[in-house]
Amino acid sequence: MKTESTAPPQLRPSRSESSWAKRSAAESSEGTLSLRDTVIKIDLSAIAENMVNIRQLVGPDVAVAAVVKANAYGHGALAVAPTLLESGASMLAVATLGEALELRDHFPDCPLLVMGLVPDAALSLAAARKITLTIDSLHQARLLNEAAKKLGHPALIHIKIDTGFHRIGFPCNEDGLRDINAIKDLPWLQTEGIFSHLALLDDASNRLQYEKFCQIVKRLEENGFSFRYRHLADSIALVDYPEYRMDMVRAGALIYGLRGFHKGYVSVRQALTFETKICHITSIQKGEGVSYDYTWKAPYDTKVGTLPFGYADGYPRNLRGKGVVSIRGVRCPLVGVLCMDQCMVDLHDVPDAEIGDIAIIYGDGSDAAPDIQEISTLAGTNKNEIVARLSARPQRFYYKSVIDR
Ligand SMILES: *Cc1c(COP(=O)(O)O)cnc(C)c1O
Repeated sequence: MKTESTAPPQLRPSRSESSWAKRSAAESSEGTLSLRDTVIKIDLSAIAENMVNIRQLVGPDVAVAAVVKANAYGHGALAVAPTLLESGASMLAVATLGEALELRDHFPDCPLLVMGLVPDAALSLAAARKITLTIDSLHQARLLNEAAKKLGHPALIHIKIDTGFHRIGFPCNEDGLRDINAIKDLPWLQTEGIFSHLALLDDASNRLQYEKFCQIVKRLEENGFSFRYRHLADSIALVDYPEYRMDMVRAGALIYGLRGFHKGYVSVRQALTFETKICHITSIQKGEGVSYDYTWKAPYDTKVGTLPFGYADGYPRNLRGKGVVSIRGVRCPLVGVLCMDQCMVDLHDVPDAEIGDIAIIYGDGSDAAPDIQEISTLAGTNKNEIVARLSARPQRFYYKSVIDR
């Protein structure tokens, strides 16, 4: 995962993350020269507020793991991490070891949890870099114990329980219990947490998973385990099921202001805006085609604007014939097949549009632009996929809409 994060001046003076500060100064040595008009703007104030609001919702006795996998859902993990940590995150959680190692380079002391599994051969590296690993087999527990012994310092682990999602985790049965109990005898492992994940089908199935989880935790505690963090809830569950917050919640989508279909309420706002500028305008006559295969032919004489973004930036190609952008506060349809790096927009409803005009690809819904929810509905997917697929290519710019006092 390459970072194209451009750190704004206000990110640099960080109290505790001196290595981060150095790095971001170096990375922004090209100054503010923009090499391309297609950019992703991220409001760090929104992320800070969202994090603070989540913290307040769950209260002082519940820790919040900020989930920054997939480059922080496209927002740029290295750049948003300081904001999350300063706003109350107790740890950063990612999916893969590669994601954790990149963060470790910049945040030497931050607790980092990998929620997915790591290949056997990489366990030792993870332990050496003090990455907290998810363990769901006695086999890996033993390998990690050996690695930690060689390193001379214990490895932190969270035990994963499969309470019904059937993705990863020790089975919720006597075999699972026996294997987990055997972990207690591995002196170089320090079991910091135990967790499971909800399928979120409905209240009854969630409750069943929660009860299975509590039961296995209780049996392990009776057998001498003690867990600092017992955790189950993601963004949706942490809002809707206060009971399932336990010792820690794992907040992903919500910290970026991507609200799920919650029954409950927490105040969050979308942090990300994807925008570009018109780079070319062509006048065409009724009946002329645009882009590959001429799938769109102008129904009237019109002007077509070219926008320098395409599916290689992470915009869904299947939005052909459906996508809209906002130019001068007017919704304009994308026309013709979306190319890898460029696409075309019908300027019929903004006849005064000029080269250099901003086109909001998606934003928070203001200026008539679609928000991420709308784009995901049009593309037939969910909000997380829309942002997780944003590629490294569009440069990220970070700003604060609210100035610190
Ligand atoms: C991605 C992930 C989360 C965060 O999910 P959101 O719905 O984005 O909050 C939590 N837990 C696990 C195990 C995950 O993989």
